[in-house]
Amino acid sequence: MTDARSVPPLDAGAETPGAAALPAAFARLADIGHSPGDGVMRLTASATDGAARRALAAWMEGAGARMAHDGIGNQFACFDWAGAGAPWVLAGSHLDAQPNGGRFDGVLGVVAAGCAALTLAAERAAGRLAPRANLAVVNWTNEEGARFQPSLIGSTVFAGALPLAAGLACRDRNGVSLGEALRTIGYGSPAGVVPPHPRAYVELHVEQGRRLEATAGSIGAVEGTWAARKMQVSWEGRAAHTGPTPMAERRDALLAAARAIAGFEDAVARSWPELHRSAARLEVEPNSPNVVVRRATVWFELRHPDRARLIAAGDAVREVFEQAASATGTRLEIASDATRAAASMDAGLVARVEATARACGLLPLRMASVAGHDAVALQNAGIPSALVLVASTGGIAHHPDEFTAPADMQAGLAVLTALLRGLITDAAGPGRA
Ligand SMILES: [Zn+2]
Repeated sequence: MTDARSVPPLDAGAETPGAAALPAAFARLADIGHSPGDGVMRLTASATDGAARRALAAWMEGAGARMAHDGIGNQFACFDWAGAGAPWVLAGSHLDAQPNGGRFDGVLGVVAAGCAALTLAAERAAGRLAPRANLAVVNWTNEEGARFQPSLIGSTVFAGALPLAAGLACRDRNGVSLGEALRTIGYGSPAGVVPPHPRAYVELHVEQGRRLEATAGSIGAVEGTWAARKMQVSWEGRAAHTGPTPMAERRDALLAAARAIAGFEDAVARSWPELHRSAARLEVEPNSPNVVVRRATVWFELRHPDRARLIAAGDAVREVFEQAASATGTRLEIASDATRAAASMDAGLVARVEATARACGLLPLRMASVAGHDAVALQNAGIPSALVLVASTGGIAHHPDEFTAPADMQAGLAVLTALLRGLITDAAGPGRA
């Protein structure tokens, strides 16, 4: 197990190059696609995503990194400090955003990893650091799942849990595949030598909850995440004139979807009130005020730490969906129904995050993350991973008002830098922490 002695001492009192660079580097990336009041528009493989990728590459090349990207467009800023054949440590997050999203989600983790690399590079140049592992700063493709479903495509492909071809074939609502979209921004084919599976991956992220905000000076050490069950459900009815068509002859798919959404909430709230649940996207065809809806598709999700409850609740709501179909004369189609298991993060790394946070003068809080993150996808695929959280003001997430105070960003950077310093200088992997 980790003890405080295994954590390298901090440069107490001295502002590191990374800490000095953080405010401007963060603003430069977070402002790409951002308009005040409207939030960030930086969907995967859009023009703004391309601009953010180029800005990251220019910044990291200026810091001495070698850029590479893989077939799914994951970007790696590689610092080959320990030479070929040495193990790797990765740190990062994602630069894609939800529509009208916040400036901090994802960007903070990528920029903080870049800033940590600046500090470690300076220590190495001064002869104060002798890395035994190489370091890469990573920007994972399509974490958010806003333009292309599923979410976490880039990290899942890298980890080997989703075939590259399947990831590239995912289509947005206009029928454009991820592969085609990546070509339009210059990331359609791999370039450079991408790092192999690392000995450890570390991600700094905003909490998207209120727990850390309630305890000043705290930092989150994520022990595990909730399981999630996501369903894409359609009702197929029949298009008809909204005026003359007799009521008894209508097969209204939107009415079916409406009954199903209300029934979903009632059924889950009655028997499993502890589940987080939503129906957050609706597509209607042909979507004309004068045509009875032919087809309606709804995206449902359920989240809880206990997978068994998701199985039971999900099976009950499938019954509700059937009832909505039979009450409206429509036909039910369940295009996908996938359960993502709860994850336990690497226990050695969790202990290390705690010890590192204490060494930085912070209070580590062990917590579960409700949301999925790239660190979870990697951990689930067997890559030891750590997820470190900093406070989100008001817990606001996926909204233009998302905010994390500069002091919290710096606290997160200090912990990330110290963690990476230890991980790249260790003789053994994190299991021996
Ligand atoms: Zn995120």
